[in-house]
This record gives sequence, structure tokens and C-alpha cells, in this order.
Amino acid sequence: MNKFILSLDQGTTSCRALLIDQDGKISGIAQKELTQIYPNNGWIEHNPNEILNSQIEVIDQVISENNIETSQIAAIGITNQRETAVVWDKDTGAPIYNAIVWQDNRTTDICEDLKNKNLEKEISDKTGLLIAPYFSATKISWILNNVISAKEKAKSNKLLFGTIDSWLIWNLTEKQTHATDFSNASRTMLFNINKLEWDTDILNELGIPKSMLPKVLNSSANFGNFNYKGHKIPIYGVLGDQQASLFGQKCFDATSTKNTYGTGCFILMNTSDQIIKSKNGLLSTIAWGINGKISYALEGSIFIAGAGIQWLRDELKIINSSEESEKHALKSSDKDNLFVVPAFNGLGAPYWDMYAKGLIIGITRDTNKSDIIKATLDSIAYQTKDVLTSMEKDTKSKINLLKVDGGASNNNYLMQFQSNILGVKIEKPQNTEVTALGAAYIAGLLCSFWDINHLKNLKYDKENFNPKFDSDKINKLYQNWNKAVKRSMNWI
Ligand code: ADP
Repeated sequence: MNKFILSLDQGTTSCRALLIDQDGKISGIAQKELTQIYPNNGWIEHNPNEILNSQIEVIDQVISENNIETSQIAAIGITNQRETAVVWDKDTGAPIYNAIVWQDNRTTDICEDLKNKNLEKEISDKTGLLIAPYFSATKISWILNNVISAKEKAKSNKLLFGTIDSWLIWNLTEKQTHATDFSNASRTMLFNINKLEWDTDILNELGIPKSMLPKVLNSSANFGNFNYKGHKIPIYGVLGDQQASLFGQKCFDATSTKNTYGTGCFILMNTSDQIIKSKNGLLSTIAWGINGKISYALEGSIFIAGAGIQWLRDELKIINSSEESEKHALKSSDKDNLFVVPAFNGLGAPYWDMYAKGLIIGITRDTNKSDIIKATLDSIAYQTKDVLTSMEKDTKSKINLLKVDGGASNNNYLMQFQSNILGVKIEKPQNTEVTALGAAYIAGLLCSFWDINHLKNLKYDKENFNPKFDSDKINKLYQNWNKAVKRSMNWI
């Protein structure tokens, strides 16, 4: 009988369960949307019990719809939305507050306070991150300070913290395992990525007792068993979503790089055993830990990528669907003189300008809607070039291939323009479920479902895009993009 790895992909908008066979092919998939809770402006929460129940529902569904026996599941791999924080009562198992989602920015004041205490350098040296509400640390601090009697309970060891992977593992193993993996720990802003331990100074600064924190294991490790209908299924792999996509894209070696084109863009470059301290606005993070060997990554996040296309659809109403943008871009006769800088909520890497605002520049009497749509797609490619340029500077290396995934990577116009403007080949797997694949791969390594050479040799269908612009053209266009970005920066 065929064996499978069950991959649990707990994302920001949905919970999914996928069956992956030994050829790395998806044999089954089930998905359930997740309720987004917006209690206040800038606040975003999820119900941790809904996450758990939905995750179990999709496991039931994928197993029953594909008529497999639980004994055919060799192991479980988990990938999850990163940074999102849950705090729960150790005795009752009940969350004491909703999960505070990574996009939530209610803790801006706590971050400002840390910056005013001049802790930026220390925190960045230790954790590889910039001080931002995005990471888990200040979210935990907010829960402890705002939920009645949370502080006292935490002090008397009654509370546990976890990112979503830990929350799922603790529940699936019936309270046996309170653990996370290196990739998720490195997104909390509490984990020292040099010493590979929770940082006592940052914990004390934020009033978070160490007793709340999970044990940190290798990404490929035994996280305990999920007792499913009398059958024990081991959880053998855990990776945060962007690291899972890096692994699923088989970016195993130094300088191999991927970009996920979703709402925003997440670009990660494997830096092997080196922690590269960016001088160009990027983050250093842990890619994964396997057999006690840590691989690191450089990361650049772009806030508005596919979201810019949603803006064309929902606000400007000049397209009916995201897919339609491709047809318009191909129709546009603009000679690349029009630029959209989608700095709708400031600019992320490598600029980090919270005061930047969006602009459209280069408009002439004959500019039409197709031109604006094309320039919005182009902005995704230019922003990606900004990040890759920083990565090349930081690592003193040349990127020769970019692996891509995510919703907007289905736009062939965009992928071709991306290749042209980078002067780099692009490789897109036909199966864009690479995040779920990454979690399956990391779990399968532990039970010899695959070894690393087997993974490297797994065949998959892919599409390539090769650059067509000469360097003069690239330089001219990129200079103009840089001028446009400068004009958008430091606005009111
Ligand atoms: P997320 O995981 O962030 O929800 P997805 O990977 O599902 O994102 O991708 C959805 C995003 O991709 C949306 O912002 C959507 O506008 C954009 N998108 C999807 N298909 C296309 C397309 N063909 N062309 C351009 N953008 C697209």
C-alpha cells in the first residue's frame, strides 16, 4: 500500500491538509477558510480553537475523501503562519485570549518604547530582526498586560505561549509536547539566533517568564504523536511558512533564493551556516535545523505585491479579477515610462520608510488604464529587484536563478518582466503548493521517507522564463524606478 506524508498547512486565511506521496506529488487536499477577527483598527485576531478544529476537520476530510487507511500515513509535517502568538492556560488548555495575528500592529507603542531605550542594535544583533509589532514578542507582552490576572498566572507557571505550530502540536499530542522548531523560534524576537537559546535580557525587558516558552527542536525532529482514531501518527517536521516554501523549492544550498508572490512578497535567500548581518535593510533569520545543523537565511518582505492588483480590482475597479491584469499589461503600449510605487502603508525592505505614500508618475495625455495596470504589475518586479540587489550586496554574490511561487506567480507577463528586469532566469514549479511540500519534505527526512539526495532528484514539472533585456535597458528602467521611489518617500 502507498504511503503518504500528511502535510498540515495552517495559513493566515485557511487551514489545509495535503497527502504527499513518495514522488512528491499531491494525492489529496482539503481546505477550510479561517474567520478573520478585526476588533479594532489595525487589530487582527484568530480564534485558536477554530484553528485547531478546522485543522482536524480537514485532516478527516482528506483521509476520508481519498479512501486511505491511517496506517498509510508515515508522518505529519506542519507549516504555519509565522509570528502569530497564542497564550493558553496550562491546566485547562483554554487560550486566555485570541491569537494575535502577525499583521496586527496594536503593539507599536511597546516597540517605540524599546527603541527609545536604544535596544535596536542589541535586539538586532541577538535575534537578526528589527523591532516591529510584526514579531511575536510584543504581542505576548500585550496579552500579559491586558488580560485580567494573566501576569500573576504567568509568574506562577500557569501559562504557556506558542506560535501556531506549538499550539497545534500541544493539542495534537494531548498536552505531551510543548515545542517549536528553530525557524518559528527565530520569528519571535525572543530567540538568540547565535547562541540558539531564548534570550533572558529581552524576556526580562518585556516581562515574559521563560517558563511560558516552548522547547526549541530541530525542524526535522520527533515532536510526539497525534493519536488519530487509535493510530499514533508521529509529527516529524515543523517549519514556518516562508522557510517551508524555501525548503519546498529545494533551495538547499548557499545563495539559492525564492520569492513568494502573494498579498506581499517574501524573498528568502539561503545563507547556509552564515548569519549575514544586512547593511541594506534585510532580516537575518533561521531557515531550518536538521541533525543539529542550522541553516540561516536573509529575508526581505515587500508589503504590497498582489495587494496592488487587488487595489486595481476593488478600489479603482479597472479590472474584474486579478487574472485579467495580464491581458491589459500585454495590451499596453506604454514604453516603460509610467511608474506606480504602491507604498500604500509605507515601504518595507529595503527602504523601511513608514511615511512613504503611493504615487503614479509619468502620466501623459495618452496614458490609459492598461498602462496603469501594467505599471502596477511592473512595481512588483521592481520591488523584488530592490530586495535581490540588497541580497547580492550583503552576500557579495550573484543570484543566477530565482525560484517563484504564490498566487501572482501565475501571471506570465509579470514573470517574464521579472526575468527581464533582473536579467536572471526564473523557475516556476507547475505545482505551486511548495509550502506544503516543504513541510512534508522536512518530516519525511526523519523517517527515511526521503533522504536529501532523493529530494534533490525528485522530478517536477516547471516553467522557465529567460531574460530578454540588455543591460543598458535594465539600467535605464531601474534608474527611473529609483527616481520614482525617492519621490514617494518621506511623504506626510
Ligand atoms: P496569500 O497567500 O498572501 O493570500 P496567494 O498566494 O493566495 O496570497 O495570492 C493571492 C494574491 O495574488 C492576491 O493579492 C491576488 O491579487 C494576486 N494574484 C493572483 N493571481 C494573480 C494574477 N494572475 N495576476 C496578478 N496577481 C494575481
